Amino acid sequence: AGLALVLAACGTSGQSDGSDKVERIPRVEALLKQMTLEEKVGQMAQVTLDVVTVGNGPFHTEEPMRLDTALLRKALVDYKLGSILNTAGAKARTREEWFTVINQIQEMAMKETRLGIPVLYGVDAIHGVTYTAGSTLFPQQIGQAATWNREIVREGGAITAYETRASCTPWTFSPVLDMGRDARFPRMWESFGEDVYLSSQMAHEIVKGYEGDANQLDDPNRIASCIKHFLGYSVPESGKDRTPALIPEIELLERHVPPFAQAIRSGAQTLMVNSGLINGVPVHCNYDILTKLLKVDLGFTGLVVTDWKDIENIHTRDRVAASQKEAVKLCINAGIDMSMIPYNFDFCDYLIELVNEGEVSMARIDDAVRRILNVKHKLGLFERPVTHYDQYPDFGSEKFAAVARKAATESITLLKNEENVLPLPKNAKVLVTGPNANSMRTLNGGWSYSWQGDRVEEFAADYSTILEALESKVGKDHVMHVPGVEYNHSGKYWEDVVVDIPAVVRAAAKADYVLMCIGENSYCEKPGDLHDLSLSENQTALARALIATGKPVIMILNEGRPRIVRTLVPGCKGVLQTYLPGNYGGLALADILYGDANPSGKLPYTYPMFVNTLVTYDHKPSENQAKMQGMYDYESDFAVQWPFGHGLSYTTFTYSDLRLSSKQLTANDSIVVSVTVKNTGNREGMEVVQLYTSDMYASITPDVRRLRGFQKVSLQPDEAKEVQFTLKASDLSFINAKLQRDTEPGEFEVQVGGFVEKFEFQ
Ligand code: BGC
Repeated sequence: AGLALVLAACGTSGQSDGSDKVERIPRVEALLKQMTLEEKVGQMAQVTLDVVTVGNGPFHTEEPMRLDTALLRKALVDYKLGSILNTAGAKARTREEWFTVINQIQEMAMKETRLGIPVLYGVDAIHGVTYTAGSTLFPQQIGQAATWNREIVREGGAITAYETRASCTPWTFSPVLDMGRDARFPRMWESFGEDVYLSSQMAHEIVKGYEGDANQLDDPNRIASCIKHFLGYSVPESGKDRTPALIPEIELLERHVPPFAQAIRSGAQTLMVNSGLINGVPVHCNYDILTKLLKVDLGFTGLVVTDWKDIENIHTRDRVAASQKEAVKLCINAGIDMSMIPYNFDFCDYLIELVNEGEVSMARIDDAVRRILNVKHKLGLFERPVTHYDQYPDFGSEKFAAVARKAATESITLLKNEENVLPLPKNAKVLVTGPNANSMRTLNGGWSYSWQGDRVEEFAADYSTILEALESKVGKDHVMHVPGVEYNHSGKYWEDVVVDIPAVVRAAAKADYVLMCIGENSYCEKPGDLHDLSLSENQTALARALIATGKPVIMILNEGRPRIVRTLVPGCKGVLQTYLPGNYGGLALADILYGDANPSGKLPYTYPMFVNTLVTYDHKPSENQAKMQGMYDYESDFAVQWPFGHGLSYTTFTYSDLRLSSKQLTANDSIVVSVTVKNTGNREGMEVVQLYTSDMYASITPDVRRLRGFQKVSLQPDEAKEVQFTLKASDLSFINAKLQRDTEPGEFEVQVGGFVEKFEFQ
């Protein structure tokens, strides 16, 4: 069915709103029968922890964290609130202190309220349990995607689940399943990149990592995931956070829905809504998206939570509701189950009035509360309202660190290696320079100890920056450090200042190699908006000066989104992309630079060459007319710095014997595609075998190619392996002009490792 993106007349059509599909759990049903309207509405509201704590200044201050019991009582007893966010030790100094606070809150909820319903805590555990000191921090999602390693993403999710429970919190606002299709967007690094298939595969793995293979949320080592931000959040026209997006329905269904649909099939229990507008309508009050598409068509039976303050926003910012009260009505009727209020209790007062006035039905309230209580029940909160940190001995362990380090190593992507400049000899003298050379903050990015990642240095002192990792690998005698340019850490994230470029040039004269660590400082959400995707002027000046020395320069990119470096790349012998690799990124990079590890990451996005050519690999043929027609090389044509899926190794791989089990495919069978990949170099390495298909002709112009399968294989020198993929008709489908998913008969191409075979679908 089509998705009419209009503000629909809120669910009064008599059709199903999806509430009938929600599981009936006896305990929850019994509670629902006893609950007053006020108690139900309270369950639908979530405050931030700041509301109920005092002395909540900086993290880890001298002062212990304390609850403001009067305010807590107002929230839990008067307003009967059911959820608190920003937990997981955010402001406590130790996990013990945090446990005490959480326990007190839970005790009040369970002892001083009539029904004793436990509070549901939620936190942005985005790349590990990001606000708890001592936790294991993984690469951010964009780096996890760059590993192209399903197991590692699942394992990272499981460790994060364990450490989040160890922080007394059973719910994470992760993963981000928005498509990383616009390099300008400040949250691109929170995504799994530009491709629908890669994102969907990783969505499955991370949800299973968080929730368990069978989504066994009552396992005290698992947590509920929250897939976000439904729908179409990451591609606003301006590239800036929370600005309007215009997305045709066909595009929404083709590229933005599938990772969410996959995560829902994988059992994801909760979902957060896009803060912005699509086609003029705030998603928070879009019945067609939240109820018809999500709850009916996709069959989502879990809990739908707003983003930060977003019910208020549709009145104050988006102006589709003339009052706060109308905003509440529109959003709840559109399908919102829980409001991240996060400060203003008016939500509860308005919602109670709206129900009493008949503007919001009791059935809608019951549906919302059922979805919320079901999650609480599944998480085992009624039996075990608080998990005790004592029961999590592996928190921050070496064992977990090894996985995070492996993930960082497998994410780092070798983009250029002219004359095999890498790996470096360990006895060489290297100059390490640039604003990212000695910073834990830039390795971690946003959502690290604090929202903007601006306090990382205080918490991550025990981990190694790039500089420190190099020094410990080859000894201080072999490493010189002159920054040249530094970030202004007390200013805006994009501000960098020139310290002394001539000093760097003088040091370069004494070095055999220059490791130029550049990119971005940490940022997150709206503060990370950007006017110009080019690398900053100061860093560009540093790079030019170094290239002019004639020394071999290795560019190390440490950035959340691909900044334009076109004019610098030709002058660099080597280029590595680290993304935001987390606390073990320095060590992982040092291993790769000196050949103790062989790079195996592949770009999960198209690295743009020009600001005006932000085109993804799965574009339409006419994006590249010169190539198509052998015509003039139009400047406007598709020109990229590095293609999607690109990444080099220190060894070489050759492909052979691409074979299809049949040249005919029907709706009821499948084709097995096999290919042999061999390590033809002289060291062990990992290769990501990528399978693409092209639909030769279709009723709407087909994308030039689409990723349909990948496998990461490890090979010893001279070793060969046969890799197999199974292709079904549904793998080749697309959304047609009638907004239906279909595979049309005709000829297809399959491409693996530079080889092409054709087959026919009938
Ligand atoms: C972000 C969400 C996040 C929420 C709670 C919002 O500003 O958009 O991704 O989960 O804050 O921290």
